Amino acid sequence: MIPESFKQDLLNRVDIVDVVSRYVKLKKGGANFTGLCPFHNEKSPSFSVSPAKQFYHCFGCGAHGNAIGFLMSYAGLGYVDAVKDLAATAGMQMPEFRPASPQEAARRDRETDLYAIMERAMDFYRAELKKSPRAIEYLKGRGLTGEIAARFRIGYAPDDWQALRRAFPEYEDRALVECGLVVENEGKRYDRFRDRVMFPILSARGAVIGFGGRVLGPGEPKYLNSPETPLFEKGREIYGLVQARDVIRKAGRALVVEGYMDVVALAQYGVGYAVATLGTATTATHVSKLLRLADELVFCFDGDVAGRKAAWRALEVSLPLAPDHKPIRFLFLPEDEDPDSYVRGHGKDAFERRVDEAPTLSEFLLGELRGAGDLGSPEGRSRLLSAAKPHLKQIAAPGLRLQIVKAVAALAGVSQEEAEQIMELRQARSYARPAPARPQPSHHFGLEERLLALVFAKPSLALEVDLDRLDPALPESKALGEIVAALARTERPDEVSDGMLIELLGESPHRDLIASAQARFWMGLKLSPEEASGEFRDTLAKLGSRASAEEKALLAKILKKSATAEEERIFQERYMPKGP
Ligand SMILES: [Zn+2]
Repeated sequence: MIPESFKQDLLNRVDIVDVVSRYVKLKKGGANFTGLCPFHNEKSPSFSVSPAKQFYHCFGCGAHGNAIGFLMSYAGLGYVDAVKDLAATAGMQMPEFRPASPQEAARRDRETDLYAIMERAMDFYRAELKKSPRAIEYLKGRGLTGEIAARFRIGYAPDDWQALRRAFPEYEDRALVECGLVVENEGKRYDRFRDRVMFPILSARGAVIGFGGRVLGPGEPKYLNSPETPLFEKGREIYGLVQARDVIRKAGRALVVEGYMDVVALAQYGVGYAVATLGTATTATHVSKLLRLADELVFCFDGDVAGRKAAWRALEVSLPLAPDHKPIRFLFLPEDEDPDSYVRGHGKDAFERRVDEAPTLSEFLLGELRGAGDLGSPEGRSRLLSAAKPHLKQIAAPGLRLQIVKAVAALAGVSQEEAEQIMELRQARSYARPAPARPQPSHHFGLEERLLALVFAKPSLALEVDLDRLDPALPESKALGEIVAALARTERPDEVSDGMLIELLGESPHRDLIASAQARFWMGLKLSPEEASGEFRDTLAKLGSRASAEEKALLAKILKKSATAEEERIFQERYMPKGP
């Protein structure tokens, strides 16, 4: 959507030191700037910003990225929004606002219209709230002050089939249906939301993209949300994030609850770091957005069967995303309580005590696994291992996984090695070098790793690598392959800076590996780009001679008929000319 050339211009134009300094106090130390990391709690600075290389890296928690990535992580902005934000500070015109094809231009105008309509609808509902003593009474009855109602821009949709006609004289406009404000049924049009307290749903940039409406009395459905529209995609949006963002960062904690009323009530009682998903189960997008902002993520569910089911689903979504350094917890409230009723009945301190004591992801997982079977029998213990297997395979954080493997092994009465073997966890552990699947000359190690670090001297160096010469079993080789592919997609690979490289890779599975190689290069190796380019080519030469030594050795074995089938396959694969 955003052209590469624009991103490159933008990253050349902005200075990451300025961008980060807006939020973090930085001190110059040598070539870099350092400060307290905004992504984890620390007393001595391990957060480093390189003006020469235009990226940041935290030696404490591993956070890293360029200016775009910083805004995404720090402000919780989406990619496009982060680019827009940066472009605005750099005084650059976003290319998407240049008229492209007539259809595209029309679609964009349409979207602008839709935002304006939503904004106008919100203003209308807010004005109506002031005119409705019944709705005001309702909110007061729930302990909400005018200040909180204003902060969340709460409104009221009157009990009238076409109330919005007063805000939109052009009530027949198709756009009102497109926004989800008006329903069309058998040629008749009427307001979707009637006699409901209205909670605007805001995008990360603060634009109204949808509404949630709650009945005042006993009616059904209790909550009604906007449908999916061009502006509103349920699985991506988080209710209350705009209002909670700063508090989440300060508290280091984000709390995910189920309803907007919970978010607002918690904020009223001083728990400002709560947000809600919008009528959908927790998605990976929700989890990763929040983990970028907070040091700790707490899911809060009702204590009933439905709540436990929703919690289990959130756990499954979280397993691959859970980092080693940020705990995820699962809070279950007593039956018949929700966060709204609990905080009103027991107050902030009691609620926060429960949050502090909430079981962690590993405790919740182990508790559920243990509860499922009888550990007194060998059958029960082996059932535990097979039940645990799919979940453990999902966990990407090596430390967390190790801890849970140890706990499962202890419960099942087997050793850690036995547990890993039964659950087939060995070779998939992230970034650990896989056990060699074939006889490997010892000088195989290190060259790929070195190339991956040195390529940051000048990314286009990667194009000189003969990928067939790399050991295909190493993650570094796969990462180099991705870099080559990414460069091949650009028009001018020579001009790709190393800060840009990470951008080009997108959601690569090796992104972390590549970013830490980048940090190692610029902050650890201390070579000039020229020295590093020289080193890179030396390493390539070593790779070439390693390959020819291997080729000779294999060929000799094949000629003596002493090669294994595996060795023949390797020879075939690497050293025989490839067919058309
Ligand atoms: Zn950090």
